[in-house]
Amino acid sequence: MTLHAQATLDAQTIQAAVDAAHRDNVALQGGANASYIPYLASVDSSLFGVAVVTAEGEVYSAGDADFEFAIESISKVFTMARAMADVGPVEFHQKIGADPTGLPFNSVMALELHNDKPLSPLVNAGAMSSASLVKAADTEQRWQRILETQRAFAGREVQLSPEVNTSEQTTNFHNRAIAWLLYSGGAMYSDPMEACDVYTRQCSTLISVKDLATMGATIASGGVNPVTGERVVDAELVPHMLAEMTMEGLYTSSGDWAYTVGLPGKSGVGGGVLSVAPGKLAIAAFSPPLDPVGNSVRGMAAVGQVAQRLDLSLYKVPGAGDPPLSALLKRA
Ligand code: GLU
Repeated sequence: MTLHAQATLDAQTIQAAVDAAHRDNVALQGGANASYIPYLASVDSSLFGVAVVTAEGEVYSAGDADFEFAIESISKVFTMARAMADVGPVEFHQKIGADPTGLPFNSVMALELHNDKPLSPLVNAGAMSSASLVKAADTEQRWQRILETQRAFAGREVQLSPEVNTSEQTTNFHNRAIAWLLYSGGAMYSDPMEACDVYTRQCSTLISVKDLATMGATIASGGVNPVTGERVVDAELVPHMLAEMTMEGLYTSSGDWAYTVGLPGKSGVGGGVLSVAPGKLAIAAFSPPLDPVGNSVRGMAAVGQVAQRLDLSLYKVPGAGDPPLSALLKRA
């Protein structure tokens, strides 16, 4: 446990934290690329990038910060924002929920246990249910509205990767089964195969860690993209988004993440990890090897290190130190 004074968030301090998080974790071993999606298994495991974007739009990075990787589960955050804005936070909460399932992200048992309510928009069931809540006349409009939302958060023309999408669409049988279960349980609000198709596409866009940190900084700044100046989501929705991220953002390690890092976050099986310090900044990292839960090993270490070095935990009180990040290590 280390005790240190509140860090001042000047440019030099932030860049030093980003550089150190890259340098200290670049040789970190452990984990394996996701293999159930063939494309993800083929990505170079040694890639590693770290970025911070502040609520004022300043960008800091180290390592492979421009490499574009599959957004995967992190897309759930932005579809959540779209659906929450479309139906309102009360209806969204009532239909999807805001609790962790305590089970893996693609669990069928979670639906069985909770009377077919997804509980969280950040597991596959809740994400497909959220996609089905987006107001749209047809599949293409549903997809375009979700893609435009990702683009607005990133401040860039994020694109679908046909290669990732084909890899996922031809192997997503488990998600199709979940979509039909949701439909039979009354928790699917469009054609279930349309929701699964659009959800699979939203997971197949390519972003860099700089994009990811910008998307997070848009949340940190209360819904205005600090780089483009565009309002992307109502400030009123941001606390709900952050609460959902706290509860289920890092799969079944979400509680461990809150315990050690103390910030809302979201990870994806593409190797991306994001955390948001409300009002201040967002930290993103990318590295493909995942722990058994599905979180990037180097990604968690790097984001956690930056958060602790910049003293960003939401739960910290004067005089308290930071717990060791080794508490996050999960072994098979
Ligand atoms: N497209 C992936 C799936 O549905 C995303 C999973 C994830 O990143 O957690 O399995």
